[in-house]
Amino acid sequence: MEKIKLNLVSKKYPNQEDYVIENLNLSIQDKEFLVLVGPSGSGKSTTLRLIAGLESITSGDLLIDDQINNDVPSKDRDIAMVFQNYALFPHMTVEENIGYGLKVRGEEKESRKEKIADAADVLGLTPYLSRKPKDLSGGQMQRVALGRAIVRDASIFLMDEPLSNLDAKLRSQMREEIIQLHQKLGSTVIYVTHDQEEAMTMADRIVVMDQGRIMQIGSPSEIYNHP
Ligand code: ADP
Ligand code: ADP
Repeated sequence: MEKIKLNLVSKKYPNQEDYVIENLNLSIQDKEFLVLVGPSGSGKSTTLRLIAGLESITSGDLLIDDQINNDVPSKDRDIAMVFQNYALFPHMTVEENIGYGLKVRGEEKESRKEKIADAADVLGLTPYLSRKPKDLSGGQMQRVALGRAIVRDASIFLMDEPLSNLDAKLRSQMREEIIQLHQKLGSTVIYVTHDQEEAMTMADRIVVMDQGRIMQIGSPSEIYNHP
């Protein structure tokens, strides 16, 4: 089943001359783990932001579960996004950070507590719920960012270089955790990275972008094992 479809999607930022995404066609299958790679400025983040509704599409259509989503507000999309810089609130505890989006949406305290506890359990954060971000390691902060996405209960996860701030050892550990999380949640993932190792080990399919276009698309071995 097709989960996400981009139909001739183009994007021009208002203050710029050129299109940064041009006539992009891409289908993402339900539960697929799709990795986007390509040089800096090739449009990977913009593609995620268009899918999340954090930027508007200039032309073309975005379909999620066969419905056109072009004008659906970000908060109403079935999507959770994880950013490179974690975007945690420094004055809030781990618990408050994870539950922030739920609170904003007006969810009851009891139901919030339950969802936060479940996410913390999955991510091994239960002992740290009352800490502030400054008292966490990089890996723990990244887990909080993941927790915040998990409680959204979305079927689509968009991850923009989520591990790039971590050291090599932690990166490979978190890589495994994200793979397991994906299997456990049965979600559809689009994952942007510069790290070939991540692309190789995580992806069902890899999309290579350059200058706002798709240059290549295939399995990790099709992309990286040149004959
Ligand atoms: P990548 O994620 O592959 O590095 P981006 O999607 O961030 O690429 O950027 C693609 C192009 O769009 C770049 O030329 C970048 O400068 C431009 N761009 C990104 N965000 C904005 C913005 N908010 N306003 C104007 N131009 C932007
Ligand atoms: P609102 O957007 O009305 O503030 P949300 O619960 O959607 O309510 O957002 C709560 C937090 O999640 C905010 O920090 C917001 O920036 C962020 N957010 C909004 N949309 C998304 C999204 N699609 N993916 C991830 N985070 C989002």
